[in-house]
Parts: sequence; C-alpha cells; structure tokens
Amino acid sequence: MNAAVDKRLDALRGSAPRLTYSARSLAALENNPRCTLRAVLDASGSDKTAIATHAGYQVPFGQSSFAIARGNTFEAMVKDNGCAELLRVLRETLGLTLPEVGYQDLNDVGGDGRPEVRHARTKHLLVQASQGLSDGTLYDHPMLRLQVGGHAVFLEPDLVAFRVDDRFHVVEIKSFPIIDGQAAPTQLRPATTQASAYIIALRAMLADAGIGPEAVSNRIVLVAPKDFTNRPTAAFVDARKQVAALNRQLARIERIGKLVGLLPEGLTFDLATDEAGRPHRPREELAEALDQVPATYQPDCLNHCEMAYYCRSRARDRASVDVLGPTVREQLGGIDTATMALGLARGQLTPNDDQLEMAVALRHAARLRADLLATADTPGAVA
Ligand code: SF4
Repeated sequence: MNAAVDKRLDALRGSAPRLTYSARSLAALENNPRCTLRAVLDASGSDKTAIATHAGYQVPFGQSSFAIARGNTFEAMVKDNGCAELLRVLRETLGLTLPEVGYQDLNDVGGDGRPEVRHARTKHLLVQASQGLSDGTLYDHPMLRLQVGGHAVFLEPDLVAFRVDDRFHVVEIKSFPIIDGQAAPTQLRPATTQASAYIIALRAMLADAGIGPEAVSNRIVLVAPKDFTNRPTAAFVDARKQVAALNRQLARIERIGKLVGLLPEGLTFDLATDEAGRPHRPREELAEALDQVPATYQPDCLNHCEMAYYCRSRARDRASVDVLGPTVREQLGGIDTATMALGLARGQLTPNDDQLEMAVALRHAARLRADLLATADTPGAVA
C-alpha cells in the first residue's frame, strides 16, 4: 500500500490508535464483501465499537463471558496431557492412523510471550517439520503472521497438526456442538472462515521458505462437543471456498486506495477525544461523516459487525429494502425502497421498463392480500 493511501487512512481514523485486524475481523470481511463503510473503517484501523457507541448505536457484540469460559474449559480439556484427548479423537473419530506424535507448546518461548518471538519460533519449527527434519508434531497456539494492507497481523490458531495425510492441518477447537455429525451452519461458517485466515497465513509463512501451498490442507479439523455431551468429537470441514473468498477480500484491501480515493476530501471518523479518552465530536457531525460512505446493510450484519445498529437505523430511515434481507432484495431487483414497492403495489406509481414485471407481481400480491383480509372480515368466515 502506498504512503499517500496510508496517510489518507490515518486521516480517516484521526487521533485514535490504529486497531489491527484479527482472525475474527478478517473472517467478517467475507460476510459483507460489498460494504464500503466496513472496508474503509477496517482498513483505516478505526475503532468501530467506539464510533458506533458515540453515534448512539452500541451493539452488544462478542461472546458472553459465560461462552468464553465454556470455550476455554473445553479447549483445556481437549489439550490436557499433551493433547492426549485430541489424539484419541483424531484416531477414533476420523480414523487417522497417527503414530506417536510430539507436542510443542508455542504459547511462549522460554517464558517470552511476545508475538514476534513466538512467530520466529513457530516458523523455525514448522519449516523444519515440512522439510522432514523433525517428526510429526502437534503445535499448540502457533503464532502466524499475515501482511494485510501493508500492516503485520498476528494470528493464533488453536492448533496446527502435522502429517495428517502428509499435510499441515489447522485444528479449530470450538465449544458449539456437533449433533449427528453436523454443526449449525451459523456457527460453522464463521469458524471455517476464521480457520481460512490461518490457512492463508500458514501458507504465506511457508512460502517465505520456498514451500508450496499444497503443504497446507484446505480441510480444517473441527473439534467440538459431541451431541449434547462434553465429550469431544472431530470432523473434517472443507474450507476451500472460504479460503478463495478471503484471498479475494485480502486482494481488495490492497486496492483500498481506489475506494478511499472516491471519498470526499477531509472526511474523518475522528471522535475528538479529550485527555481522559472522552469523545467530544458532535454526534450529528459524526453521523454526517459516516453517511458519506456507502454501506450495504443486510440483517446478517447483526451477527458480525459493530456498526450493525447504526446501519440498520440508516437503512430503515431510507425505507430501504436492505432491511428485509438479500433474498427479498434480489426478488425486488430494481426497487430499492419499501415506499416504492408499496406505491407500485397500490398502483400509485408508474413503473419504469425495468420494474414492469415486478409491478405486476406486486399488484397481484396486493389483490390477494386484500381478498384474504376481506374474507377474514366476513362474518362466519373460517379463521
Ligand atoms: S453493519 Fe454496516 S458497516 Fe458493518 S458490514 Fe453491515 S452495512 Fe457494512
């Protein structure tokens, strides 16, 4: 990323310290790839939680402390005794004929927990292993690094397992259940996308040592409680699609200069904080700045973006059909607002050529609804 773009992104963020991407925020990119507002806020390292809160739309976001504690307890149980339980699961559930394996704890290096130090150690060990210079090993909390928009992002998978089918596999340990061999798609999808960021980072690290991407599997190993018990089970999850989608998003971040170039000069999301960190920027002024950047709200934003309440409110104010979700939006192609849809349904608006077909369907639906209401109002009608 060039210096001029970096300068512009710094100006957009204002005086606040830059926030770096995390595996979670990288995974979220894949959820709403068309949203310029999110792309610009993330690329500039702006604090979306602080901005949304100051704008008056704080989202109770992130996992509850109960869920975090439950996740940590489950992970500790799976990794106890040098990952003894994990090995049992990999052998029994996935039928892997794993020989005795080693275990490397990369949570720190001789007591030094700095990311750079852990990353150097991780790289040394994994490159050695892939060159056949060490035996198959489970690497606990390796530290990976990825360049995103010219900035280093450290990423920390739960575990990397070596030599499952002669390839590195990213292991994700989650506390949501696998019921009858299936995890809920709403929980599986973000977990897989997050693991995709690890796959990409692991490949980038090995590429530095001249090792090709095939050394890292596109399949992740998901370890989670079986049914409603606390007993772990495992499943392979194909992450190919998400790896490709995330790679596209990362390439888009590198082209953020184009998006930023379209924004008005002088635009900033600075909150004008005082020495105590209290924001003083007038709310309306902040909202005006945010409103100058296109956002593509969809109900799923509520699951993955700190700006969701703000963008939902903005979409509602415009009576945008975005609030009804992508399926309805697609069906109403060419009709952007509920006001317009209702006007066409009631015959109060004249459709243009692109809207003709949909206008006929809307008027038909309106007639059906009116008939149903009339029937329901008729004395003696069956409810
Ligand atoms: S909540 Fe707003 S900023 Fe976030 S992804 Fe959705 S539309 Fe974009």
